[in-house]
Formats: sequence, C-alpha cells, structure tokens
Amino acid sequence: MTVRTRIAPSPTGDPHVGTAYVALFNRVFARSQGGQFLLRIEDTDLQRSTRASEQHILEALRWLGLDWDEGPDKEGPCGPYRQSERQALYARYAQQLLDQGHAFRCFCTPDRLAQLRKTQEANKTHPGYDGCCLHLSAEQADARCASGTPYVIRMKVPGQGSCQFNDMLRGTVSIDWSQVDMQVLVKADGMPTYHLANVVDDHLMEISHVIRGEEWLSSTPKHVLLYSYLGWEPPCFCHLPLLRNPDKSKLSKRRNPTSITYYRDMGYLPEALLNYLGRMGWSMPDGREKFSLADMTEHFDISRVSLGGPVFDQEKLSWLNGSWIRENLSPEDLMQRLYAWRYNQTYLAQFLPFAQSRIERLSDLAPLTGFMFSGLPQLTPDQFAHKKLGEAEVRKLLQYVLWQLESLSEWTRQALFDAIKQLARALGISTGDCMQPVFVAMVGTTDSWSVVDSMAILGADVTRGRLRHALDVLGGLSGKQQKKLEKEFQRLMNAGSASETAVGEQVPSPAGSGGDA
Ligand code: GLU
Repeated sequence: MTVRTRIAPSPTGDPHVGTAYVALFNRVFARSQGGQFLLRIEDTDLQRSTRASEQHILEALRWLGLDWDEGPDKEGPCGPYRQSERQALYARYAQQLLDQGHAFRCFCTPDRLAQLRKTQEANKTHPGYDGCCLHLSAEQADARCASGTPYVIRMKVPGQGSCQFNDMLRGTVSIDWSQVDMQVLVKADGMPTYHLANVVDDHLMEISHVIRGEEWLSSTPKHVLLYSYLGWEPPCFCHLPLLRNPDKSKLSKRRNPTSITYYRDMGYLPEALLNYLGRMGWSMPDGREKFSLADMTEHFDISRVSLGGPVFDQEKLSWLNGSWIRENLSPEDLMQRLYAWRYNQTYLAQFLPFAQSRIERLSDLAPLTGFMFSGLPQLTPDQFAHKKLGEAEVRKLLQYVLWQLESLSEWTRQALFDAIKQLARALGISTGDCMQPVFVAMVGTTDSWSVVDSMAILGADVTRGRLRHALDVLGGLSGKQQKKLEKEFQRLMNAGSASETAVGEQVPSPAGSGGDA
C-alpha cells in the first residue's frame, strides 16, 4: 500500500501552529514510509473562507519547510485540491446516499431546530436532531421540494449499538450511536458539510492514513459510517493529542499567540519551531532534544506519540530557538537570516520617512527605531499612568482594542485608525486618550511617529502580542473578567454602530506632526 497522508486546513483565519503540528506529523509519517503528503483546502464554508487566509496558510507552511507533493498550487492526479472546486462530486455522492436510503431530506426550519435545542438543554437530554423528517415518504419529500421549501440532507444513524474503530494511538475506540447526531451532509445552499466532503475527498485522493487532531475523534463514527454506506474501505485513523497552554487548557489565541506568522515575525527560526512541534508528544528514540526535519523523518515511529496533552510553552521554544541560533548557524548564516527577516531595505523603507524628520544624526536612528525590530518591549505599569483613566480602565481599554482589531478585514493604517476611533467614540473619550496606552504598549516609550503606522508595518501578530503583553504587565484579566467585559464590549459596539458609523476620516499625517499618544 502506498502511504498517502494529508493536511486539510480550512482557510478561515490565521495559519495556526496546530495546523503546522498536524502537518509536520503527517509529512514525517508519509515520508518515513516512502509515501506522499498532500495539502487540501477545505473551504466549503463560503462565508468564512477567504483566499487571503489560504495564501497565508500556504506561505506559513512553506516557510516552515513543510512542502507537499500535491496541492492547490501543485496539481496531481487527484485534483482539484480545493473543495469549493469539487462541488459536483459531493452532489453525486449525496444523491447516491439518498437513493440508497442512507440519507434523508430534512425540511425543519432553523426556528424549529433552535426550539428543539432549547428543550433539550432544559431537559438536559443529549443534543441532536430528533428525526422529525426521517419518516417522510419519498412523495411527501418530493412535494415539499417541488413547492420550493428549503431543505438539508442528513445522514441516517443506527438507532442502537456502538461504532467501533481502530485509532493508531488508542487502539479500539467505541462510541455509542446514541451519541452520534444525524449529521447534515449537504446544507440548504447545496454546499456539502465538512463530514461529507472530507470523506469523499479522502477516498478519492487515496488517503491511506488520516492523522489529525483529537478534536475530530468524536466525528469519526460519522465518517466510518459514510465509508460503509458508500462501500469504501476506511483509511487508518490517528488522532494526535491537542496542544495545550502551560495551564493545560486548550491552546487558544485568547491566551497565547497561535499564529505561525507571529513566531516568524518575532524572529523564531523555522527549524527551531519545527523541532519544538516535533517534541509535542513525541521524542527521538535516543532522547536528544534537538533534531531537524530530516532527523525526525529518519527516526519516526508513530507509536512513540504519547497521549498526555503536550504543552506549548513559549519559554521553552525560545530556549530551543536560542540554541539553534548559537549552535547551528555560522555568523554568515545568521546574517542571511537577519536580512531575510527585517534587516533589509524593503522593511526599513516602510518607516524611514517617519524617522527622517525626527533625527539630527544618523546615530539617532537606532534608538528611535529599535521597537520596529524588537519583540515585546520592556514595560512597567507606571508607564500606563493616564491623565483621564484609572489602571482598571486602561486594562479594559487594551482588551477592547484587542477585540476591536480582531474584526478588521484589512490591516492598514486607515483601517486601524478607524477602528480605534470608533472605539473611542463608543467609550466617549477622545481618540488621543484611547491611543495613549496603545502607543505605550506598541512602542515602549512616548516618543515616536503615529502608532497606527507602526502597527500597520509591524503586522497583526506582533501588534496583538504587544497589546496582550501590556495587559499582562498591568496584571492581566481573569477568564471571568474577560467574559464579563466581552459582553459589555459587544453591547457597547452594537449601540455605537446603531447610532453612528462615521469612520473614514483621514489618519493625521504622520511625518513631522508628532505622535498620537
Ligand atoms: N478542515 C479540518 C480542519 O480544519 C480538517 C480535519 C481533518 O483533518 O479531518 O481541521
């Protein structure tokens, strides 16, 4: 059997370190077996998927050196490798499932389903579809379709017993069918859901081993059932343990930077990040801590993956990165890495005009622009003393800015300025007062050009990292406080957007006009 594995990211956000981790294990496993590793884009959620996110994911994986044998940019015998271009295939198999009585059309309205969910929650019964449309005759269903009633296609699930399948790390896994929902396979807009598209593609792309995150374990019975309905041999399944924060909670961007590009922009080396990800639940047979992608591939044995939740700890990653810099790069190599990173003309040219009006000697440049090359600035709480806001309010403000920036679809100085200005208005404070803590968080001092320019150039990841760091310096927010604030923030912004949306005013000109703190 030819081993074929895949990484199947959904392009709905930043390139996640979890994607890199799963891609690494898939690639290493396939290559260690002389097999192939594919990249498939799972973009059936048309509302949330974007080409920009797809591009960023591809670039981030390439930067790490996790290249693939077949993918949207590398056609092969099983293309296209983007699900939005394979819709006709899914429709054909959905029809087959309907014809063979393994699936049914469901006409329940979103209101009915919401009501059902509420009742189930109130009665503390297992959530899931109650089978209301399961027993409609073909004629009844045809008549509703003919009258234009919207519908979805759901899969049938056995009423009793359990699903058993083998997981390469867990052995036999058994899940009661009563825990498995009559999953929607095709949505009202005709697009397949993840479950149908994923199974059809893994079969047609001849994937032999599905290696993915543990969060998909509970979906596997649905997939096993679909393989059997369609008369196909299922692949081998392997669910990797989820990456965790040092407090053992699931790695999430609310607590930790999770974007691969954050680590790139903060100056981590791709080999060090890969090495660190390789140690998430896995170790070299000889126990050595430092290894390359080639070393890992040579010595890989999937049964050495341990299931205890691996902790993604930035301090350990930094230590490992330092060790790669010290021990594995010649000064010439290091020079090349620095050029490729931020010590180059293209990067400098973006902010040099702002610096030019503020220096008297060439030697003034380095202290003035240090923050454009550094990671997290050294900060103390008293730097955030504000003429109008108390410390708790400053903390709240920084958290609000973080949330406000999450909704930005483009990362430009104008968009950043508009977003902060909109927040300031909603809070009833001046834009300058709102900018001041942001300025300190980003620059570490109060002397620089307009902070939105710096944020635009430093990028979303470093900006978020610095704002989060500032919040930590100010004592941070507990999960409970965050939840409470999040509600307040939503209420505030909804009220604000209902009353006025006057954004689009020009950002004050940066050069020579003084910072906006
Ligand atoms: N598109 C899914 C994801 O984003 C893929 C899950 C799988 O590997 O089956 O993680």
